[in-house]
Amino acid sequence: MSGLAAAGALRNASWHVTVLDKGRVPGGRMATRTFDDGRFDYGAQFFTLRDEAFATLARPWIEAGQAVPWNEKRYRVPGGMRSIAEAMQEGLDVRLSERVARVRQTAGGWEAIADSGEKFRAASLLLTPPVPQSLQLLAASQVELNEGDWALLEGASYWKCITVLARIDGQTHAGADGFAAPERGPLQWVADNFAKGVSRLPGCLTIHATREFSEEYWERSASETAEAVLAAAGAYFDGRVRSYYLHRWRYAEPAVQLPVPFHSVGTLVFAGDVFGGPRIGGAAASGLAAAAHLLRLRGEQKSSE
Ligand SMILES: Cc1cc2nc3c(=O)[nH]c(=O)nc-3n(C[C@H](O)[C@H](O)[C@H](O)COP(=O)(O)OP(=O)(O)OC[C@H]3O[C@@H](n4cnc5c(N)ncnc54)[C@H](O)[C@@H]3O)c2cc1C
Repeated sequence: MSGLAAAGALRNASWHVTVLDKGRVPGGRMATRTFDDGRFDYGAQFFTLRDEAFATLARPWIEAGQAVPWNEKRYRVPGGMRSIAEAMQEGLDVRLSERVARVRQTAGGWEAIADSGEKFRAASLLLTPPVPQSLQLLAASQVELNEGDWALLEGASYWKCITVLARIDGQTHAGADGFAAPERGPLQWVADNFAKGVSRLPGCLTIHATREFSEEYWERSASETAEAVLAAAGAYFDGRVRSYYLHRWRYAEPAVQLPVPFHSVGTLVFAGDVFGGPRIGGAAASGLAAAAHLLRLRGEQKSSE
């Protein structure tokens, strides 16, 4: 979200932007997948409009019915959360399945070298992976930051989340609006993707475990972990689990919010939800703030030329 929001704003200012994403599909943690004929949102489940800059970005999706009011201030996306990222990438130069392995400062700016061996050059480099991944990339690239920059960026920490997607043969009971947010126990969220409009088949549950459970089970086998999650989710369905899929989010949600909307080291800029707030809107707000900063920087460079 952060990268696509920034890229859209820069494109609107007539910049040529290349978005490199290691994912086979766009969206990062706004993730939707199909398995056993069911369709599931398995990362973010909804968005809210509490971030002003994001509300402006989201308005056309709501007007077009791509996102619809759900419960209280939440919006759901019947096409799946990923469909928002797919809409945002239209008209942008997005390269999927391009994992950036190294970056290098050049005379004119930056070069990103992908696993594929392809090299991409640009005047500025905006990094929007979870910050620990951006720092690993810089370390692998032997790009040095000064102590103050490292100290700020190393403060970025995230909660883990284990997610189980379950196809149920039988009835599901995930609450009147199609979701439940248990206040206690090993689960933090159970949603019915049929009720959300994401799956055309009933019996498709997304189950997110709590931070504590996810930490405790992180190293355990997939079958032991899924069994424990499904046992805890027993109250939300009758019948049998016909198939399941387990996903481990190492960087699910920021555990802290850094005190700046983005961080810039000259033409190297960092953005993402750990800066803007632990949600889709926060990620977008950070990306938009980073884009505005890059535009200002370019304006200053031009006026000094
Ligand atoms: C289980 C879960 C539930 C959530 N529920 C909600 C919710 O209901 N509502 C809400 O608002 N938020 C929710 N969130 C949080 C929300 O999803 C995030 O805050 C937001 O999507 C983060 O966006 P981002 O752009 O900062 O990061 P990401 O979405 O993580 O994007 C980072 C991108 O960087 C790419 N990348 C990483 N390393 C490389 C590399 N070396 N080369 C190329 N590409 C790379 C990744 O593929 C990814 O696309 C949830 C998150 C999770 C995991």
